[in-house]
Amino acid sequence: MSAKILDGKKLSSQIKLKIFEEIKELKLKNITPGLAVIIVGEDKASKIYVRNKEKACQEVGIVSQKFELPETTSENEILELIKKLNTKEDIHGILVQLPLPKHIDENKIINLISKNKDVDGFHPYNLGNIMIGRESFVSCTPQGILELIKSENIAIAGKECVIVGSSNIVGKPMAMMMINNNATVTVCNIFTKDLESHCRRADILIVAVGKEKLITASMVKKGAVVIDVGINKNKDGHICRDVDFESVSKIAGYITPVPGGVGPMTIAILLQNTVLSAKEFYKF
Ligand code: NAD
Repeated sequence: MSAKILDGKKLSSQIKLKIFEEIKELKLKNITPGLAVIIVGEDKASKIYVRNKEKACQEVGIVSQKFELPETTSENEILELIKKLNTKEDIHGILVQLPLPKHIDENKIINLISKNKDVDGFHPYNLGNIMIGRESFVSCTPQGILELIKSENIAIAGKECVIVGSSNIVGKPMAMMMINNNATVTVCNIFTKDLESHCRRADILIVAVGKEKLITASMVKKGAVVIDVGINKNKDGHICRDVDFESVSKIAGYITPVPGGVGPMTIAILLQNTVLSAKEFYKF
């Protein structure tokens, strides 16, 4: 292997330590950041993600309140809960774990979350701010990726950045952030013709698709920075990646591992956003 590992676990621990110190200071002023976490249904992966987020909150001193709702919960019930949480003074962040059951309109739910408590950065207002490069809540996964890249002092301006996957929570905000950092950006999706030729041009290749080993060594430029966002279970129940780590790590300059790459960074940024929200609330 020649690629250097972009260690999200290590960087996220450093960020969490800073947050812990910051919250210690806030608590001296009787300020405790609070995060509400709403989970609907029985999706096993979602339950694991929520447990990891709660654990991270505990580590840094954020009070998390979990609302576990049955699969049969109506859209209205969730909307009513969000309305209440929007007005609660001890809640500074509201997170709705996605995906929601099919009978619930995710956009309607996200749109109702107060833009000032949207610590996931999914609200159209905050996504719009990314578009114009204005500071607000940043989408956690793209921001985590950006911080991981910057932690190694990797230059972004003028680089060819190819993003595979164009979701609202990863691909699109990532593209905007890379444009804001003056990269030349290409976004690929399932309809892209000749994905390989696009990927091979990338100095920075970010993959958020959810297909095991979609990216192989022949698709990667020598020395490229390769970020693997995918976390999936294959048919044997093993966690798998979008990038074929074995072969690509021999070609790439930098690569993220899964687990221990983007996942922990996403959570670290969520915590950062929650503290930011509490500080804004108390004008601290
Ligand atoms: P999504 O599932 O909403 O959409 C997938 C995207 O991939 C679409 O834009 C689709 O067009 C594209 N795509 C599918 N097949 C393709 C192909 N063969 N070639 C090119 N593009 C293709 O996306 P998402 O919600 O961003 O999730 C993507 C992956 O990232 C999933 O594995 C998810 O679990 C993971 N994820 C990880 C984190 C984290 O914190 N590590 C956060 C969010 C998502």
